[in-house]
This record gives sequence, C-alpha cells and structure tokens, in this order.
Amino acid sequence: MRTRGNNLATMGRFVFDFDEPSGGGRELLGGKGIGLAEMTLLGLPVPAGFTITTEACRAYLREGDIPDGLEDEIEEHVHRLEERTGKRFGDAGDPLLVSVRSGAAVSMPGMMDSILNLGLNDDATEGLASRTGNPRFAYDSYRRLIQMFGEVVDGVEAHRFEDALGELKTRRNARHDTDLGAEDMRGLVATYKQIHPAFPQDAREQLLRAVRAVFESWNTPRAQVYRRANDIPDDLGTAVNVVQMVFGNKGDHSGTGVAFTRDPSTGEQGVYGEFLANAQGEDVVAGIRTPQPLETMQATLAEAYAQLLDTMRRLEEHYRDMQDVEFTVEDGALYMLQTRAAKRTAAAALKAAVDMVDEGLITREEAVARIDPAQLDQLLHPAIDPNARLEVAGKGLNASPGAASGGIVFDADTAVERAKDGPVILVRWETTPDDIHGMIAAQGILTVHGGMTSHAAVVARGMGKPCVAGCEDLSLRDGVARIGGHELHEGDVITLDGGTGRVFVGEVPLVAPRLNEDFETVLGWADDVRRLKVRANADTPEDAARAREFGAQGIGLCRTEHMFFGSERLPVMQEMILADTEEGRRAALDRLLPFQQSDFEGIFEAMSGLPVTIRLLDPPLHEFLPSEEQATDEKVRARIRSLHEQNPMLGLRGCRLGLTYPEVYEMQVRAIARAARTVGEGAVVEIMHPLVGFAEELRRLRELTERVWAEEAGDAPRLIGTMVELPRACIRADEIAEFADFFSFGTNDLTQTTLGMSRDDAEGKFLTRYLNDGVLERNPFEVLDQDGVGGLMRIAVERGRSAKRELKLGICGEHGGEPSSVAFCHRLGLDYVSCSPFRVPLARLAAAQAALEEAGSAQYVAAGG
Ligand code: ADP
Ligand code: MG
Ligand code: MG
Repeated sequence: MRTRGNNLATMGRFVFDFDEPSGGGRELLGGKGIGLAEMTLLGLPVPAGFTITTEACRAYLREGDIPDGLEDEIEEHVHRLEERTGKRFGDAGDPLLVSVRSGAAVSMPGMMDSILNLGLNDDATEGLASRTGNPRFAYDSYRRLIQMFGEVVDGVEAHRFEDALGELKTRRNARHDTDLGAEDMRGLVATYKQIHPAFPQDAREQLLRAVRAVFESWNTPRAQVYRRANDIPDDLGTAVNVVQMVFGNKGDHSGTGVAFTRDPSTGEQGVYGEFLANAQGEDVVAGIRTPQPLETMQATLAEAYAQLLDTMRRLEEHYRDMQDVEFTVEDGALYMLQTRAAKRTAAAALKAAVDMVDEGLITREEAVARIDPAQLDQLLHPAIDPNARLEVAGKGLNASPGAASGGIVFDADTAVERAKDGPVILVRWETTPDDIHGMIAAQGILTVHGGMTSHAAVVARGMGKPCVAGCEDLSLRDGVARIGGHELHEGDVITLDGGTGRVFVGEVPLVAPRLNEDFETVLGWADDVRRLKVRANADTPEDAARAREFGAQGIGLCRTEHMFFGSERLPVMQEMILADTEEGRRAALDRLLPFQQSDFEGIFEAMSGLPVTIRLLDPPLHEFLPSEEQATDEKVRARIRSLHEQNPMLGLRGCRLGLTYPEVYEMQVRAIARAARTVGEGAVVEIMHPLVGFAEELRRLRELTERVWAEEAGDAPRLIGTMVELPRACIRADEIAEFADFFSFGTNDLTQTTLGMSRDDAEGKFLTRYLNDGVLERNPFEVLDQDGVGGLMRIAVERGRSAKRELKLGICGEHGGEPSSVAFCHRLGLDYVSCSPFRVPLARLAAAQAALEEAGSAQYVAAGG
C-alpha cells in the first residue's frame, strides 16, 4: 500500500521538476531523470521539464490505474512549465510542446518508447507554422507525433505509417524525408490521420494517455525478455520524464546526435559520435538517413560543437566515468537531452579505466570495482586467427567485437528455434527491440543497415556478442542472402569478425585469446586487493599451462578419469573392470600406472611450485565399457548387465569405488607419489577423495593413502582431503574434518544432491520452465543457490573449522567462476575458488570486488550502464 505522508516536503509526491530536490536518486527518478536533474544542477543547457517517479509507476501497476493525486500533480507541473516557457500547453497560437520519455533505474536500451511533440493538434500545428514561419517543420513535427502516439499508445502497426511515407517518397522521387516539402508533410498528416483516426486533439488527454502507456510498457513481453536476460528485477517500474521540446528538425542549423566521451569500442580518448542535420529524435538511431561523424558539425555549427565538447568534458569529470549523451541543436543552440554511463565493450572498459587512473580521475580500486567481470568473458573467447589467409565476402561496421560462426537465420523466432541445434547468426536488415529474443539466442548479429549506434550495435555490445552492422555488401531478399558473389540460404554457415567488421562465408579458424596490457594492469590491481586465491580446474598439462598464463595459483580440481581413456589405455581399463579376481585387476592396473604417472608429472611440471588437487577416480565404471548392444562377447555383456544401475549418479562411484576396489585408488596414489618424487620440490600434492558422506569412509581411505604414499615418497609433504558434495558431508563436517586436511566444495554435485535435481534431466526441461515461469530466478547450476546449497556450505565451514582450525577450504564446482558466487565464497571465508582456465581472470576480478565491497567500499561499485 502507498504511504503518502505530508509532513516532509518530498514525501508522498510523485512529480519533481528537474531543478527541484527530490530526496531520491536513480531508483526514484530513473536513469534518464537523474541524469537530467544532475545536468540541470550543473548548469548545463537542458530543456525544462519534470519527472514522474518510479514510485508512481509502481502504484499504477499495483492499482491498475493512475494513483490518486497524480493527475493534479502533473497539472501543477505543466502549469509551472508554462510559466517558465511563456507558452501554453494545448495553445493554438504558440503551443508548448513536450516529449514523454520513459526511463527506468537500469538502462534498458530501446525497451520503452518515448513520444515527441506532444501538445500538437490541427490548430496548434497551424499556430506553430505561422509562429515559426516554417510550415514544413510544423507538419513534420505533427506527423511524427501522430505516428509515435499511434504506435506507442494505441498499438497501430509502425509499418502502416512507414509504408505511407515510403510511397510518398517514391511518388515525389525523394531520396530522403528531408527532400519532402511543407505541402508533402501536410499531405502526410492527412494520410496519418486516416491511418489513426482516433488520435486525440486534446493536449492534456494526449499527455495522460502517454504517461499511462509508458507505465504499461514496463510489462511488454520484450521488456520482460530483456529484464530476464539481464537480471533486472521485475518490480522496479519506470519513471516518466516530461521534457520541453527542442527541435532539431528546423533546418540546416539544427540537428540531433549522440556522442561518447571516449570510443565505446576501444576506449580510446577523444569524443566519438554521430550527427544528423535537420532531424529529430530517433532519426540517428533508426537509420533513416546515414548519420555523419560528429566532427562534421564543426563546419556548420562551430559554436554548438565547441560547447558540446566542453559539456562532455565536464560530464566525464562530474561522473568520473565514460558517458554517452544525446543532444539536439535548435537554430545553433545546444541542448542536452540525456547522459548516462556509456555502454562499452570489455576492451574499452579496461582501457578507459586504466587511462582514467593515469589521468587521476579515479583510483585503482575504483577501476577494479567498475569493470563488470561477466563482461570480460568477451575478451576470453576465441578470435579469428590473424595469420589465416581468408577471403572476405563482405565488410560492414565493426559494431561489437569478437568472432562467431553459425548458420544464418533471418528472423528472431527462427534464431531461437535453430539455436537449439547449433550456433546461429541472426541476419537482419536492421534489428528492433522485437528481435531481442533472437539476439539472445544468436552467437552473432549481422545487419545490412544502421550505424555504430543502431539498435543492433548497442544491444550486441551490451550482450558482449559479435556484431557487424551496416553491411551494405549484403542484400536480403525472399529468404536469400547475397554477399560477395555467394548466395546463402537459412542454415548456411558464415563467420563474423565484429572487431573488424569482416564477414566470411563458411567456418574460419579461431585462435585462443590472450590478455592485453590493460587487462593485465587491471588484474594486477585486483590481485593487490583480493584475499581469495584463484585456482583452475585443469586435467592436462596444456590446460594447466594456460591456466597459469591467466594467473591461476594452482589447480583446484584435476580429474583423473580421462587418464583411463585413450586407445592404449581403455582396453587395459576394461580388462581391469572385467577381471574376476583382485589379482587380475592388479595386473591390469600395473600396466595403467606408468601412463598415469607420466600424466601427473606433466601436470606437476606445468604447475611447478603451486598446489595441485588431484581427485581420485569418480565416475561409475560402466562409463568405461561399451554399451550392451555394442559388446560382442557374452562375458562382457554379462558384466555390463551386472554394472547397470538405476541411478548411476547415486550409485557405485566416488569413494565408494575406492572402498570397493581399493587397488584402483592404491594405483592412483602410487602414480601420484612416484610422479611427485620424479618432479621433486616443484610438486605440491593434494589428494582428494570424492563423494565422501561418512567420516568412516575418509578414515579408511586416508589410511590407504598414507600407507601407499609412505611406501613411495616417505615423508614428503602432501595433503589428503575430500570433495564435499553431499548434504550429509556438510552436516557431519566436524567428524569428517578429523581425517581431512582440506575440503573442496564440489558444488555441481552438491547442487544436484541438495536440490534432488539431476542437471541433465533438469536443464532444457523442467528447469527451463521453472525459469520462464519465475518459480526460480536463476539457474542454480550456473549461479550458486546461496540460500540452500550455500546454507549447507556455511554449516560445513563452521563445523569443519570448529574441529580443525587450519582446515583449508575451496570450491571447485563451476560456480567458482561465476562472479556472484565468487563473492559468496569470499564472504564465507573460503581460501580459494577454482574454475575453468578461461574464467580465472574473471574470478580474480570478482574476488577483488568482493574484498572491496567488504572493506566498505560499496561506493566504488559503478552505478551500471
Ligand atoms: P530512448 O530511451 O529510446 O533513447 P529518449 O526518451 O531518450 O528514448 O528519446 C528518444 C529520442 O528523442 C532521443 O533521440 C532524444 O534525444 C529525443 N528527445 C527526447 N526528448 C526530446 C525533447 N524534449 N526535445 C528534443 N528531442 C527529444
Ligand atoms: Mg527508443
Ligand atoms: Mg535516449
């Protein structure tokens, strides 16, 4: 229920002028509203206006109607706006016009629609025409209003307006809409009114219905999809900004543009943007005409350009972060319409952060805090082999970096459909917010039309997906794409290089990523502040070496099962499994030992001086045997039948194997010990027993391990511990700790066993349903279920340490590379996280951010883009 106190000036109010203190921030005013208010406060040229708060939106959504008092408040503020501007809203002679703009606390590009030129009607348009002596401008503004209002408020299909405009242009032989004259625009208004006969003439009705429509757009399917994809809560609501109109469509000394304080692709210093003369609002983004580089303003609008540069410098200094702005020039005068933390690529984020530290604008800690670890993923993905000699089929704008291959699809629904079977590239004339689900499903996006600030480019950069935009070498017709002499149909494979804008037909060789200098610099700063150590999950010397390059401080999980595969080994392993006697098994194991020993030697050498946690054999034995149908020998078939289990995940596996066939673990420990002896001091050994649920299991296995180790390596140091992956192990952690030097939380299995959910049976099936229906917010196999699984971990940590203070604690499930889970592990007091080699840099950063946050440096965490 809404509380509307009246003792405090700002309490219970829904509407604030840009220059009034609201007592709230971004959450209350939305990103756009807070930006307009702060720019106003800085004395920058911002048109007058007011913000209707997110609180009003939430009340509207709750009550299903405009909340009490809101209408009066809006009326009051309109009145104030009239006084300031000396114009009257709905006036027929010299009307006050406004835009109605949505703006949530978290930026959601293109998700909510804005309406410009509100307040125009038949009479007011005549008034505006005669008042300005510019009838073309007046009718152009009016036809835009009818279209935007029709689309946003009354759901008229956009193409009906666009088709009418297109037809008129064809009839007039006009290339651009700027080639149309006043009479054409007047005619277009008449046509648009036929398309949308219900367009309201009353200015106040227009305003209220527009406000309502913005509130309601919070819950459109595309907004919901975007929020889900970006983890934005559903209950924030949006603010509405009502802004006095300024006009970029008044002629050649007017125009509209967008600009970044630094290059959003590379982070290079220097303003970067696009400008379109004699245009209004979204024309730049919508690709109506191809916008010009920002510098072209200098020739025609030198003063406004200089003022813009100065303004952007001030904004960056004020926010101490890279900004992107929207502006309009009306008859030579500059107006700022929006500012926000710029969306940028990971590479740009790193470069800008490093530069800003050099410039003294921010501290190292701030630099570390404001890089989004998840976004770094972009830089840790394969790129096109620079040495490959390739035929470039076409070129477009390098709108969002990274390389991707996939089968082409021409619409978003097909993208979603076909993405189930393999990677797809979404190929469109241009994208709109309605394509968002297809963009999420696709590996990369290719458009024929649109610039660096087109919808495709902005959204792809936000998602960290490769995008080539404005590729005019490409033509699309009737389900066929033509590029560089190739004719491509749905499903044909292409490769995009979003970093250079190149398009290739077919698949192209990719190379592993490397850390660039900025990345190393920021990670170095992160290492200075983090407490958690970061290890990698690596099973081979190659993975170990890569992990080390990425800064891993050891191996947290080395799985040994692959050491039983391979053409020389598998037959011996099968012989072992099929043997009837212990003697037979030992004979086979003796032949496997040298293989394993040399594998371990390789890993110890690659990780020399750093700890390596080796997990003894874990999976059920049937995984090493052929299927019953494939087996030719009756004896083998019988053995396969006898090994069959109803629930292999809960069957004979992990330490249960080691207790059932002790000779297997003995062989493994022997191989590890001999490898350690061969490698010498550099080998830092931690032997891990999987799936322990009872202290007695570990007591026995520890005894076995110690005995064999002593035989082979005497009193050389080693740790013996367990993977904690059963709820019982967490509950009885104090008992288990007696026999463990370390615990490593195996959160993949711990999640399965805690939730009673098999990952393979859940993902893509009922779990997907759960996520869509909102039963669960996050996939617990990707993001640690902190309340449930995490609760058990907390118990294990407390009880384990109560029994043994020096107990070493880590996590080796896939969650060890997921930023929010890393932060949780930090708070839990673990010693390290371990994740796949490619995620090590991410985890280093996430661990640092967790430490900064703990140190009460929450203010460092950027407000977000
Ligand atoms: P979006 O979130 O899609 O960018 P905006 O509310 O920022 O939506 O506005 C859409 C376009 O209209 C932008 O180009 C913006 O600069 C322009 N615009 C918004 N309000 C005004 C105004 N009062 N005068 C002139 N242009 C405006
Ligand atoms: Mg928009
Ligand atoms: Mg905008």
